[in-house]
Amino acid sequence: MDFTFLGTSSGVPTRKRNVSALALRGPEEKSWYLIDCGEGTQHQLLRTPFSLHRLAAVFITHMHGDHCFGLPGLLASAGMGNRSEPLTLVGPAPLEEFVRKSLALSDSYLPFPLSFLPVETLKQWSGGNVSVEAWPLSHRVPSYAYSFTETNIERKLNRDKLITAGIPPGPAWGKLLAGEPAYRSDGSPIREQDFFLPPRKPRRSVIGGDNDDPGLLAQACDGAHLLIHESTFTEAVAQKLGPSRQHSHAAGVARFAERVGVPNLILTHFSPRYQQTGSDGNPGIVELELEARKHYSGNLQLAEDFASYSLTKSGDFSRAS
Ligand SMILES: [Zn+2]
Repeated sequence: MDFTFLGTSSGVPTRKRNVSALALRGPEEKSWYLIDCGEGTQHQLLRTPFSLHRLAAVFITHMHGDHCFGLPGLLASAGMGNRSEPLTLVGPAPLEEFVRKSLALSDSYLPFPLSFLPVETLKQWSGGNVSVEAWPLSHRVPSYAYSFTETNIERKLNRDKLITAGIPPGPAWGKLLAGEPAYRSDGSPIREQDFFLPPRKPRRSVIGGDNDDPGLLAQACDGAHLLIHESTFTEAVAQKLGPSRQHSHAAGVARFAERVGVPNLILTHFSPRYQQTGSDGNPGIVELELEARKHYSGNLQLAEDFASYSLTKSGDFSRAS
Protein backbone atom coordinates (compact mmCIF):
# COMPACT_ATOMS: atom_id res chain seq x y z
CA MET A 1 0.00 0.00 0.00
CA ASP A 2 1.62 3.25 -1.15
CA PHE A 3 0.85 6.87 -0.37
CA THR A 4 2.02 9.91 -2.36
CA PHE A 5 1.28 13.42 -1.19
CA LEU A 6 0.20 15.76 -3.99
CA GLY A 7 -0.65 18.73 -1.77
CA THR A 8 0.08 19.48 1.89
CA SER A 9 -0.90 23.13 2.43
CA SER A 10 -4.11 24.29 4.06
CA GLY A 11 -6.36 26.93 2.54
CA VAL A 12 -4.05 28.31 -0.15
CA PRO A 13 -1.11 26.92 -2.13
CA THR A 14 2.41 28.15 -1.49
CA ARG A 15 5.48 27.96 -3.73
CA LYS A 16 6.46 24.61 -2.21
CA ARG A 17 3.13 23.11 -1.28
CA ASN A 18 -0.12 22.72 -3.17
CA VAL A 19 -3.52 22.36 -1.51
CA SER A 20 -4.82 18.96 -0.36
CA ALA A 21 -4.59 15.80 -2.41
CA LEU A 22 -3.18 12.34 -1.81
CA ALA A 23 -2.68 9.38 -4.16
CA LEU A 24 -3.10 5.91 -2.65
CA ARG A 25 -2.23 2.71 -4.46
CA GLY A 26 -3.69 -0.47 -3.00
CA PRO A 27 -1.65 -3.67 -2.60
CA GLU A 28 -0.77 -5.31 -5.93
CA GLU A 29 -2.92 -2.77 -7.77
CA LYS A 30 -2.13 -1.01 -11.03
CA SER A 31 -4.94 1.48 -10.48
CA TRP A 32 -4.95 4.10 -7.73
CA TYR A 33 -7.25 6.23 -5.60
CA LEU A 34 -7.30 9.99 -5.13
CA ILE A 35 -8.21 11.39 -1.73
CA ASP A 36 -9.17 15.06 -2.03
CA CYS A 37 -8.47 17.14 -5.09
CA GLY A 38 -7.49 20.72 -4.36
CA GLU A 39 -7.01 23.15 -7.23
CA GLY A 40 -3.96 22.28 -9.31
CA THR A 41 -3.92 18.59 -8.41
CA GLN A 42 -3.76 17.64 -12.08
CA HIS A 43 -0.62 19.76 -12.44
CA GLN A 44 0.97 17.92 -9.51
CA LEU A 45 0.05 14.58 -11.09
CA LEU A 46 2.07 15.49 -14.19
CA ARG A 47 5.17 15.19 -12.01
CA THR A 48 4.28 11.66 -10.82
CA PRO A 49 3.76 8.25 -12.49
CA PHE A 50 0.01 8.37 -11.79
CA SER A 51 -2.18 8.34 -14.91
CA LEU A 52 -5.78 9.56 -15.07
CA HIS A 53 -6.56 6.44 -17.11
CA ARG A 54 -5.75 4.32 -14.08
CA LEU A 55 -7.64 6.39 -11.52
CA ALA A 56 -10.11 3.95 -9.91
CA ALA A 57 -12.06 6.23 -7.58
CA VAL A 58 -11.99 9.66 -5.95
CA PHE A 59 -12.77 10.23 -2.28
CA ILE A 60 -13.51 13.81 -1.18
CA THR A 61 -13.38 14.46 2.57
CA HIS A 62 -15.40 17.70 2.58
CA MET A 63 -16.62 20.48 0.35
CA HIS A 64 -14.15 23.25 1.23
CA GLY A 65 -12.49 24.49 -1.93
CA ASP A 66 -8.94 23.57 -0.95
CA HIS A 67 -10.09 19.94 -1.01
CA CYS A 68 -12.25 19.81 -4.17
CA PHE A 69 -11.74 22.80 -6.52
CA GLY A 70 -9.39 20.73 -8.68
CA LEU A 71 -11.93 18.08 -9.53
CA PRO A 72 -13.79 19.61 -12.52
CA GLY A 73 -10.52 20.39 -14.31
CA LEU A 74 -9.03 16.98 -13.55
CA LEU A 75 -12.15 15.23 -14.88
CA ALA A 76 -12.21 17.39 -18.02
CA SER A 77 -8.55 16.54 -18.67
CA ALA A 78 -9.27 12.84 -18.19
CA GLY A 79 -12.00 13.25 -20.81
CA MET A 80 -9.70 15.03 -23.25
CA GLY A 81 -7.25 12.17 -22.71
CA ASN A 82 -10.00 9.81 -23.95
CA ARG A 83 -10.55 7.99 -20.72
CA SER A 84 -13.43 5.58 -21.25
CA GLU A 85 -13.61 3.66 -17.95
CA PRO A 86 -16.41 4.65 -15.54
CA LEU A 87 -15.24 6.62 -12.50
CA THR A 88 -16.65 6.49 -8.97
CA LEU A 89 -16.71 9.66 -6.87
CA VAL A 90 -17.36 9.35 -3.14
CA GLY A 91 -17.99 12.49 -1.13
CA PRO A 92 -20.53 14.70 0.61
CA ALA A 93 -23.88 14.85 -1.20
CA PRO A 94 -23.32 18.39 -2.64
CA LEU A 95 -20.29 17.06 -4.56
CA GLU A 96 -22.50 15.73 -7.36
CA GLU A 97 -24.17 19.08 -8.00
CA PHE A 98 -20.82 20.90 -7.78
CA VAL A 99 -19.20 18.61 -10.35
CA ARG A 100 -22.15 18.26 -12.71
CA LYS A 101 -22.88 22.01 -12.76
CA SER A 102 -19.21 22.94 -13.19
CA LEU A 103 -18.96 20.60 -16.16
CA ALA A 104 -22.29 21.66 -17.67
CA LEU A 105 -21.73 25.42 -17.25
CA SER A 106 -18.29 25.12 -18.84
CA ASP A 107 -19.66 23.04 -21.73
CA SER A 108 -17.42 20.15 -20.75
CA TYR A 109 -18.27 16.72 -22.04
CA LEU A 110 -16.89 13.56 -20.46
CA PRO A 111 -16.59 10.42 -22.62
CA PHE A 112 -16.83 8.26 -19.50
CA PRO A 113 -19.64 7.81 -16.95
CA LEU A 114 -19.42 9.23 -13.43
CA SER A 115 -21.13 7.55 -10.51
CA PHE A 116 -21.56 9.46 -7.26
CA LEU A 117 -21.80 7.76 -3.88
CA PRO A 118 -22.84 10.08 -1.04
CA VAL A 119 -20.49 9.52 1.89
CA GLU A 120 -23.31 10.21 4.35
CA THR A 121 -24.87 6.84 3.54
CA LEU A 122 -21.76 4.92 2.54
CA LYS A 123 -21.49 1.69 4.48
CA GLN A 124 -18.49 0.27 2.72
CA TRP A 125 -16.92 0.53 -0.71
CA SER A 126 -14.82 -2.23 -2.18
CA GLY A 127 -12.56 -2.08 -5.18
CA GLY A 128 -9.32 -3.74 -6.23
CA ASN A 129 -7.71 -5.06 -3.07
CA VAL A 130 -9.10 -2.53 -0.60
CA SER A 131 -12.25 -1.95 1.39
CA VAL A 132 -13.08 1.66 2.27
CA GLU A 133 -15.17 2.96 5.13
CA ALA A 134 -16.08 6.56 6.00
CA TRP A 135 -15.89 8.12 9.47
CA PRO A 136 -17.63 11.40 10.38
CA LEU A 137 -15.43 14.19 11.79
CA SER A 138 -15.96 17.62 13.34
CA HIS A 139 -15.40 20.67 11.10
CA ARG A 140 -17.20 23.79 9.89
CA VAL A 141 -18.90 21.74 7.18
CA PRO A 142 -19.56 17.97 7.21
CA SER A 143 -16.18 16.27 6.93
CA TYR A 144 -15.11 12.63 6.82
CA ALA A 145 -12.10 10.38 7.18
CA TYR A 146 -11.65 7.32 4.98
CA SER A 147 -10.10 4.08 6.16
CA PHE A 148 -8.48 1.80 3.57
CA THR A 149 -8.20 -1.82 4.63
CA GLU A 150 -6.47 -4.48 2.58
CA THR A 151 -8.65 -7.32 1.29
CA ASN A 152 -7.80 -10.51 -0.61
CA ILE A 153 -5.00 -11.47 1.77
CA GLU A 154 -2.96 -14.26 0.25
CA ARG A 155 -3.46 -17.71 1.81
CA LYS A 156 -0.46 -19.78 2.73
CA LEU A 157 -0.44 -23.55 3.07
CA ASN A 158 0.93 -25.06 6.24
CA ARG A 159 3.54 -27.14 4.41
CA ASP A 160 4.90 -28.91 7.47
CA LYS A 161 1.46 -29.97 8.61
CA LEU A 162 0.53 -31.27 5.17
CA ILE A 163 3.71 -33.33 4.92
CA THR A 164 3.29 -34.66 8.46
CA ALA A 165 -0.28 -35.65 7.56
CA GLY A 166 1.03 -37.68 4.64
CA ILE A 167 0.01 -35.23 1.92
CA PRO A 168 3.21 -34.51 -0.07
CA PRO A 169 3.59 -31.61 -2.52
CA GLY A 170 1.48 -32.39 -5.58
CA PRO A 171 -1.84 -31.73 -7.26
CA ALA A 172 -3.71 -31.76 -3.92
CA TRP A 173 -1.74 -28.68 -2.80
CA GLY A 174 -2.66 -26.85 -5.99
CA LYS A 175 -6.33 -27.71 -5.49
CA LEU A 176 -6.26 -26.45 -1.90
CA LEU A 177 -4.69 -23.16 -2.99
CA ALA A 178 -7.29 -22.82 -5.75
CA GLY A 179 -10.09 -23.39 -3.23
CA GLU A 180 -11.17 -26.59 -4.99
CA PRO A 181 -12.05 -29.94 -3.35
CA ALA A 182 -8.84 -31.89 -2.68
CA TYR A 183 -8.36 -35.55 -1.82
CA ARG A 184 -5.74 -37.77 -0.24
CA SER A 185 -4.25 -40.64 -2.24
CA ASP A 186 -6.82 -42.96 -0.63
CA GLY A 187 -9.64 -40.78 -1.96
CA SER A 188 -10.69 -39.27 1.36
CA PRO A 189 -11.37 -35.52 1.34
CA ILE A 190 -8.86 -33.05 2.79
CA ARG A 191 -10.42 -30.49 5.16
CA GLU A 192 -8.87 -27.31 3.80
CA GLN A 193 -9.33 -25.33 7.03
CA ASP A 194 -6.89 -27.73 8.70
CA PHE A 195 -3.99 -26.93 6.39
CA PHE A 196 -3.76 -23.17 6.00
CA LEU A 197 -1.66 -20.87 8.18
CA PRO A 198 -3.57 -18.12 9.99
CA PRO A 199 -3.84 -15.08 7.66
CA ARG A 200 -1.58 -12.12 8.35
CA LYS A 201 -3.00 -8.83 9.60
CA PRO A 202 -4.47 -6.74 6.75
CA ARG A 203 -2.79 -3.44 6.05
CA ARG A 204 -4.95 -0.56 7.22
CA SER A 205 -4.61 3.22 6.94
CA VAL A 206 -6.86 6.05 8.06
CA ILE A 207 -6.85 9.32 6.14
CA GLY A 208 -8.61 12.19 7.84
CA GLY A 209 -10.28 15.25 6.42
CA ASP A 210 -10.34 18.55 8.27
CA ASN A 211 -11.24 17.89 11.88
CA ASP A 212 -10.90 19.49 15.30
CA ASP A 213 -11.54 16.31 17.30
CA PRO A 214 -9.10 13.47 16.53
CA GLY A 215 -10.77 11.37 19.24
CA LEU A 216 -13.59 10.73 16.76
CA LEU A 217 -11.19 8.39 14.95
CA ALA A 218 -10.59 6.02 17.86
CA GLN A 219 -12.63 3.19 16.34
CA ALA A 220 -11.32 3.85 12.83
CA CYS A 221 -7.74 3.57 14.10
CA ASP A 222 -8.34 0.21 15.78
CA GLY A 223 -5.77 -2.06 14.13
CA ALA A 224 -4.52 0.71 11.83
CA HIS A 225 -0.86 0.84 10.81
CA LEU A 226 -1.02 4.47 9.75
CA LEU A 227 -2.94 7.66 10.48
CA ILE A 228 -2.67 10.65 8.14
CA HIS A 229 -4.22 13.69 9.79
CA GLU A 230 -4.32 17.44 9.39
CA SER A 231 -2.24 19.51 11.77
CA THR A 232 -3.00 23.02 10.64
CA PHE A 233 -1.62 24.82 13.70
CA THR A 234 0.44 24.48 16.84
CA GLU A 235 -1.55 24.31 20.05
CA ALA A 236 -0.71 27.89 21.06
CA VAL A 237 -1.77 29.33 17.70
CA ALA A 238 -4.94 27.23 17.67
CA GLN A 239 -5.84 28.56 21.12
CA LYS A 240 -5.11 32.15 20.07
CA LEU A 241 -7.33 31.82 16.99
CA GLY A 242 -10.16 30.27 18.98
CA PRO A 243 -12.33 27.24 18.21
CA SER A 244 -14.13 28.68 15.17
CA ARG A 245 -11.61 27.38 12.59
CA GLN A 246 -12.31 23.82 13.70
CA HIS A 247 -8.85 22.53 12.80
CA SER A 248 -6.47 20.31 14.76
CA HIS A 249 -3.14 21.26 16.29
CA ALA A 250 -0.03 19.08 16.31
CA ALA A 251 -0.20 18.34 20.04
CA GLY A 252 -3.83 17.20 19.88
CA VAL A 253 -3.27 14.79 17.00
CA ALA A 254 -0.06 13.46 18.56
CA ARG A 255 -1.71 12.86 21.93
CA PHE A 256 -4.54 11.00 20.22
CA ALA A 257 -2.19 8.84 18.13
CA GLU A 258 -0.18 7.99 21.25
CA ARG A 259 -3.32 7.10 23.20
CA VAL A 260 -4.70 4.70 20.57
CA GLY A 261 -1.26 3.29 19.77
CA VAL A 262 -1.19 3.85 16.03
CA PRO A 263 2.45 3.14 15.12
CA ASN A 264 2.86 5.57 12.22
CA LEU A 265 1.57 9.14 12.04
CA ILE A 266 1.86 11.60 9.16
CA LEU A 267 0.86 15.19 9.79
CA THR A 268 -0.21 17.33 6.82
CA HIS A 269 -2.39 20.33 5.82
CA PHE A 270 -0.10 22.95 7.33
CA SER A 271 -1.09 26.59 7.62
CA PRO A 272 1.00 28.74 5.24
CA ARG A 273 2.23 30.63 8.32
CA TYR A 274 4.61 27.70 9.03
CA GLN A 275 6.00 27.35 5.56
CA GLN A 276 8.83 29.87 5.51
CA THR A 277 11.34 28.33 7.82
CA GLY A 278 12.65 30.48 10.57
CA SER A 279 12.91 33.79 8.72
CA ASP A 280 11.34 36.98 10.05
CA GLY A 281 10.19 35.28 13.18
CA ASN A 282 8.21 32.71 11.21
CA PRO A 283 8.02 29.54 13.25
CA GLY A 284 8.56 27.02 10.44
CA ILE A 285 7.24 23.49 10.02
CA VAL A 286 9.77 22.28 12.58
CA GLU A 287 7.67 23.94 15.25
CA LEU A 288 4.79 21.58 14.45
CA GLU A 289 7.16 18.63 14.43
CA LEU A 290 8.74 19.46 17.79
CA GLU A 291 5.34 19.92 19.37
CA ALA A 292 4.08 16.57 18.06
CA ARG A 293 7.22 14.72 19.18
CA LYS A 294 6.62 15.82 22.76
CA HIS A 295 3.43 13.78 22.81
CA TYR A 296 3.99 10.91 20.35
CA SER A 297 6.59 8.16 20.58
CA GLY A 298 5.82 6.36 17.30
CA ASN A 299 7.13 6.97 13.78
CA LEU A 300 6.25 10.61 13.09
CA GLN A 301 6.49 12.14 9.62
CA LEU A 302 5.61 15.59 8.37
CA ALA A 303 4.26 15.42 4.84
CA GLU A 304 5.85 17.20 1.90
CA ASP A 305 4.53 17.49 -1.62
CA PHE A 306 5.63 14.46 -3.70
CA ALA A 307 6.83 12.50 -0.67
CA SER A 308 5.92 8.80 -1.07
CA TYR A 309 5.55 6.21 1.67
CA SER A 310 5.14 2.44 1.55
CA LEU A 311 3.41 0.08 3.94
CA THR A 312 4.64 -3.47 3.37
CA LYS A 313 2.88 -6.80 4.00
CA SER A 314 4.76 -7.18 7.25
CA GLY A 315 3.52 -3.79 8.45
CA ASP A 316 6.84 -1.97 7.92
CA PHE A 317 6.30 1.65 7.02
CA SER A 318 8.90 3.92 5.48
CA ARG A 319 9.45 6.80 3.12
CA ALA A 320 10.08 5.54 -0.41
CA SER A 321 11.04 8.84 -2.08
ZN1 LIG B 1 -11.90 22.57 5.62
